[in-house]
Amino acid sequence: MELLPAGTPPISKKQGFRSLKLVNVDMDQLLSDQPVGVDYGILDNGLRYYVRCNSKPRMRAALALAVRAGSVLEEEDERGVAHIVEHLAFSATKKYTNHDIIKFLESIGAEFGACQNAVTSADDTVYELLVPVDKPELLSRAISVLAEFSSEIRVSKDDLEKERGAVMEEYRGSRNATGRLQDAHWILMMEGSKYAERLPIGLERVIRTVSSETVKHFYKKWYHLCNMAVIAVGDFSDTQGVVELIKTHFGQKIPDPDPPLIPTIQVPSHDEPRFSCFVESEAAGSAVMISYKIPTDELKTVKDYCNLLAESMFLYALNQRFFKIARRNDPPYFSCSAAADVLVRPLKANIMTSSCKRKGTIEALESMLIEVARVRLHGFSEREISVVRALLMSEIESAYLERDQIQSTSLRDEYLQHFLHNEPVVGIEYEAQLQKTLLPHISTLEVSKCSEKLRTSCSCVIKTIEPQPFAVLDDLKNVVKKVNLLEEEGRISPWDDEHVPEEIVTTKPNMGHVVQELKYSNIGATELILSNGMRICYKHTDFLDDQVIFTGYSYGGLSELPENEYFSCSMGPTIAGEIGVFGYRPSVLMDMLAGKRAEVGTKIGAYMRTFYGDCSPSDLETALQLVYQLFTTNLTPGEEDVKIVMQMAEEAVSAQDRDPYTAFTNRVKELNYGNSYFFRPIRKSDLQKVDPRKACEFFSTCFKDPSAFTVVIVGNIDPTIAMPLILQYLGGIPKPPEPVMHFNRDELKGLPFTFPTSIHRCYKHFSTLPIVHGC
Ligand SMILES: [Zn+2]
Repeated sequence: MELLPAGTPPISKKQGFRSLKLVNVDMDQLLSDQPVGVDYGILDNGLRYYVRCNSKPRMRAALALAVRAGSVLEEEDERGVAHIVEHLAFSATKKYTNHDIIKFLESIGAEFGACQNAVTSADDTVYELLVPVDKPELLSRAISVLAEFSSEIRVSKDDLEKERGAVMEEYRGSRNATGRLQDAHWILMMEGSKYAERLPIGLERVIRTVSSETVKHFYKKWYHLCNMAVIAVGDFSDTQGVVELIKTHFGQKIPDPDPPLIPTIQVPSHDEPRFSCFVESEAAGSAVMISYKIPTDELKTVKDYCNLLAESMFLYALNQRFFKIARRNDPPYFSCSAAADVLVRPLKANIMTSSCKRKGTIEALESMLIEVARVRLHGFSEREISVVRALLMSEIESAYLERDQIQSTSLRDEYLQHFLHNEPVVGIEYEAQLQKTLLPHISTLEVSKCSEKLRTSCSCVIKTIEPQPFAVLDDLKNVVKKVNLLEEEGRISPWDDEHVPEEIVTTKPNMGHVVQELKYSNIGATELILSNGMRICYKHTDFLDDQVIFTGYSYGGLSELPENEYFSCSMGPTIAGEIGVFGYRPSVLMDMLAGKRAEVGTKIGAYMRTFYGDCSPSDLETALQLVYQLFTTNLTPGEEDVKIVMQMAEEAVSAQDRDPYTAFTNRVKELNYGNSYFFRPIRKSDLQKVDPRKACEFFSTCFKDPSAFTVVIVGNIDPTIAMPLILQYLGGIPKPPEPVMHFNRDELKGLPFTFPTSIHRCYKHFSTLPIVHGC
């Protein structure tokens, strides 16, 4: 928000996505199982590699060795061993002693040791290195270190004894409030599956006493090249040299002829929800978490991809409702959100989490369950889904526009997901095309139907976390029963959203007509006078395909005001901005404009009033409708709006009072303009005198009379399409019976100020901040 009527908010410029072609999709079409945009292959010994050139950050490479072996493969007497192997990797290998590895990590600027450069989870172990590539030998060395990890980790008795302490320390560190909660939650989620008993940190007994033979046995049993991938994404000159390095260091390794198959560990589903009330005195606050577990989806066809998109639309739409609920008076929770997460290889979950006030967990739980049931009973509205569609569209648009600025680590993670979870890598270009094509066809019904997976009978786990005991298991069970009954009996009312009109201009205005037309063939411009007196000048340009920009201006601004009206009127744009200058509250207009690229702004200066716009050619109608609304809206200030604006203005004035730089520029203005009221900084006492009604009236008057305005439109405009719109929405602005704020450029009232007549030297001391400004 602006405090003073000055400054023009920047209008974002986006291009390129609109011209992206839609693709012809067949829902059964298979997504490429070969990753796109990366040099991918399998060596004879089974090792997979992914190599890609990427220059963010420059002169760096993100490397990884991914192993499909984690704690879930451990036997009872091995619990914690997968993680111990990871530690031992950084201790010593056949080629490198501890000393060598530390020296190497130092040379690449990495933090030392295990858990800084590696992660062990239930399903896999990933070693990561970020290496400078300006010295070629470092890259080769780094790949050779990864190659050593793959088969040559030294597991001696001494190595193990030395490492036990570090692992125990980590074990102790994980016994804090967060760690205890996470572990207890994991066990609750995985109950009935081996996963429940295979937390990567393992058992204290095993960490303290496991033998080096047992560790070695695990390492040899599960670390096979056919279960591994090496990934290298970095600022390389070409991928071939890096592939050669990988072949040099890994290629000679002889694979085990008969490695054991990695078993898929099942997680049983359950119809009855599981409940848990955690009381943890160290917990940060009260919270409720509801998880609905589902088997991980196969993502193989376009149809699968489409279903995944529908699910993310569902979560977005649900989150929008949660957001609005949290902003009501006396809400059931401070915040609530839903997200999907892959838990283990065969299992993912939709998880809703809320944080709430003390003793508020039961109320929060009920509200969360009711919202999902409400979607099942009544669905989302078309409008809610169109807002979500537009949001997703703009997200993929940004991703597409910034496709050359992806970080190497992000690409590395994408290839990790491809290797570890079979997630397709189709390339951002195709993904953008696919989303652009599919999003408009995913119906509101399809999105609403995703709520079926969020039933309490669908492997649901409900937990509360409280610093002091309040909710008990029976409370949670009763809430579930109650909400399920309400749903069964259809006693949950539809979502009552803030009313958002479909059309910006509710009644189409009478079309104006052209009373005079002039063509300037030398500059390719056309000038028109419309029947309401508005002067239009347009020209087709070919700088950008996806842009039309316009400015409408009229002479006469704040300098015409008498001093006693100046302060009130200068607050006009700020108060008007809060109410909404286009006839709708900004929050409502935001929903109405979702997915459209049309922005219109206003500015009231000392001598001129302007409105300006930037839009896509396809959204020109919307942009012109906003201009029509600007001219036909009579602003009336509500008490609440004025209160908010005045509070913010007061805070801004206080902030300025504290800022030495503002004091400096104010002093300069004072010297330059002789303490004119126009240039004088606003004081709190001025704010108290502001008349909000007067401020709004002035703003409305500034954009009232179309005959006082000249509008210049340039960009990719096709007159056959643009002209009817111009006549409708600009020509349709009614002309007031008497001229309003008609000023002749040469007769404008000058601002009241006097230039200094002599040289001023002025020193002022501020003790608050040690800043220096040149004089
Ligand atoms: Zn560790």
